[in-house]
Amino acid sequence: MPSNPAPSVPSTADAVIIGGGVMGCAIQYHLARLGVANTVLLERDVLGSGSTGRSQAICRMHYSNAVTTELAWQSLQVFADFDARVGGTSGFVNTGYLVVVNEADEAGLERNVAMQQELGVPTSVVSRDDLAQVAPMVTLYDDERAAWEPNSGYADPYQVTVSYAARAREAGARILMRTPAAGIETQGDRVQAVVTADGDRIATDTVIVAAGPWSKQVLAGVGVDVPLIPVRHQIATVARPLERVPNHPTVGDISQSFSFRPDGSNFTTMGFGDDNEQSDPDVYPQGLELSEAAIARGKLARRIPGMADAYYRGGWSGLFTTTPDWHPVLDAVPGVGGLYCGIGFSGHGFKLSPAIGKAVAELVVEGRARDVDLTPLRFTRFAEGDLLESSYRYRVLA
Ligand SMILES: Cc1cc2nc3c(=O)[nH]c(=O)nc-3n(C[C@H](O)[C@H](O)[C@H](O)COP(=O)(O)OP(=O)(O)OC[C@H]3O[C@@H](n4cnc5c(N)ncnc54)[C@H](O)[C@@H]3O)c2cc1C
Repeated sequence: MPSNPAPSVPSTADAVIIGGGVMGCAIQYHLARLGVANTVLLERDVLGSGSTGRSQAICRMHYSNAVTTELAWQSLQVFADFDARVGGTSGFVNTGYLVVVNEADEAGLERNVAMQQELGVPTSVVSRDDLAQVAPMVTLYDDERAAWEPNSGYADPYQVTVSYAARAREAGARILMRTPAAGIETQGDRVQAVVTADGDRIATDTVIVAAGPWSKQVLAGVGVDVPLIPVRHQIATVARPLERVPNHPTVGDISQSFSFRPDGSNFTTMGFGDDNEQSDPDVYPQGLELSEAAIARGKLARRIPGMADAYYRGGWSGLFTTTPDWHPVLDAVPGVGGLYCGIGFSGHGFKLSPAIGKAVAELVVEGRARDVDLTPLRFTRFAEGDLLESSYRYRVLA
């Protein structure tokens, strides 16, 4: 039987993108829209095989800072109108999003909601009576407070990724799967080529690192140190007792340190993990710990009592690529001309990906993002001690 021939590797490109997750593909698509279509994306495995394919894919705007709220709000509008704006499907489902905090976090909740409202995001703090109108199946306890975003929900990260990739290819961009980048060559203080694991060399003056949990290693190859720590988180799916809980909103349950959302019409996924569980992206347990899934199921039943009869279906683990403030780095890499990064999404990047693809492409082509000021997400903020702050201790919901 004939085998697939190895993809031919071009010898030059206007830009090389390392990593075929949702970020790399969105960046490549937006580069093409800005007229830079002679690009090559290198993916060590297949598209979406990193954090993207393991995402819980919740899309909400509740954040403690304006820059991520803006990126999330711009992105939500793309997910909700994806076929017209990009072409393809995002799988977006509008469930509404409820964030629940302990009363000790009430001031933070109110501050975040006020900031979001100023940015035009539809959201409000809700009382228990309000909640009975929008999500009667959810229990809010006396010592808890909540906010509601009617426009939020979840989407399909694989569909989004391959849609961006397909549109980029149509514009003339190249995507090479099972083609790891083995090194970035520099001359003086500028990039000059990317070399693949098979020894092919692509001459280029622009390289964008979007290698998810592997980004620290990729950047170390050019002597750049960036404080990224991959942390394992888990997703468990349960079947809903449909006669008792036909539907429910997406919930960021900061009060119980987990999140959950519907998954299609019959199922519910729960996301949870230990923020200190550092992992090697090449070797980590990719399955689910049943004992931890049982704890999450107990929390789910406490929040929605009808879910006490939900039964376990399966699950998986994936990696958050965390930074010291759990926010990404979107910047040119200081000291290496032509090198850019879109890294460190810390478990909440999918919801930002349409806006990040656009912003990073504009940064590369035009020197700055048009619609959002990326200064708070600059490379040097860790060394400067100017970290973004969160209103909450459950850091993925920063
Ligand atoms: C369990 C879990 C739940 C999550 N839940 C949410 C959520 O509810 N909402 C949300 O917004 N976000 C969520 N996230 C986060 C979100 O999924 C990520 O932030 C996002 O997918 C990151 O995309 P990426 O393209 O940066 O990284 P990745 O998807 O990891 O892509 C990087 C790619 O680079 C490739 N690569 C690495 N090294 C090389 C190399 N040397 N050469 C070529 N290719 C290379 C990898 O194979 C990989 O495909 C979750 C993540 C996980 C793991």
